[in-house]
Amino acid sequence: MEENIIRNSNKIVIKIGSSTITSSDGTINRDFLDNLAVQVKGLIDEGKQIIIVTSGARIAGVSTIGKWSRKEDLNYKQALCAIGQVELMDSYRKIFNKYDTHVAQILLTREDFNDSSRTLNIRNTLFTLIDERVIPVINENDTVCVKEIKIGDNDMLAAQTTVLWNADLLIILSDIDGIYDKSPVENDDASLIEVVDDVDELEKNISIGKSSSFGTGGISTKLKAARLVNKYGIKMIVANGKKENILDKLAQGDEKGTLFVARN
Ligand code: ADP
Repeated sequence: MEENIIRNSNKIVIKIGSSTITSSDGTINRDFLDNLAVQVKGLIDEGKQIIIVTSGARIAGVSTIGKWSRKEDLNYKQALCAIGQVELMDSYRKIFNKYDTHVAQILLTREDFNDSSRTLNIRNTLFTLIDERVIPVINENDTVCVKEIKIGDNDMLAAQTTVLWNADLLIILSDIDGIYDKSPVENDDASLIEVVDDVDELEKNISIGKSSSFGTGGISTKLKAARLVNKYGIKMIVANGKKENILDKLAQGDEKGTLFVARN
């Protein structure tokens, strides 16, 4: 089912989770980014338009500066994000440039989505970049965000971006194949749920375990994201970004994920 959906979607937002972009030692996984760049370039060459929403700034900050990983106060967390954002974008820029693709950084906060003149500016910038075949790479602007004005997790940032841009599809790449009836890390017999047409019903019937060590939002925020995009008739797929060529494999029907279809 996913294969037709990817083939028929022209405007696609791809969200990269912290657990996907980070290697086990906490550094940016450059092999993953290289493989992502090749696949995104392939989709663009097919005529599709792509926006990336990426996590990973804080973890990249920790591995860059080599300290503060256990500091819990906000100023240090924000300082780590400011350091790591540069490292993150530097990796995107270098790796995407290898494939003759330019990237652009856009940092957003919750308030940007609630203000009509800001949303107009964001939309115009996105359209201009995409028309010129530059790939917008979006993250939350953590430096200016305190808890009260934070979107809080990039699953929701990606969902709001998807709605703002009126995309056809949101693909959330995580470190699992999709949503399971129970946490696959804690239960060997967990089974993958392939299609969801009622998020509320799904939430009642599954059990949600802890998120992975580098993860932030976990499964609840992915369900929230699905609820939002589905409300606007937009589909969402959760799939395993740790698998090589995952976008190609989904598009060819060689890998499975969880597809959230909008109910009519
Ligand atoms: P990301 O960093 O990609 O946003 P998270 O670590 O926040 O990812 O969330 C994904 C993790 O959620 C998985 O690695 C898995 O261990 C955990 N998890 C808990 N319950 C479930 C479930 N019912 N189905 C799938 N994954 C689950």
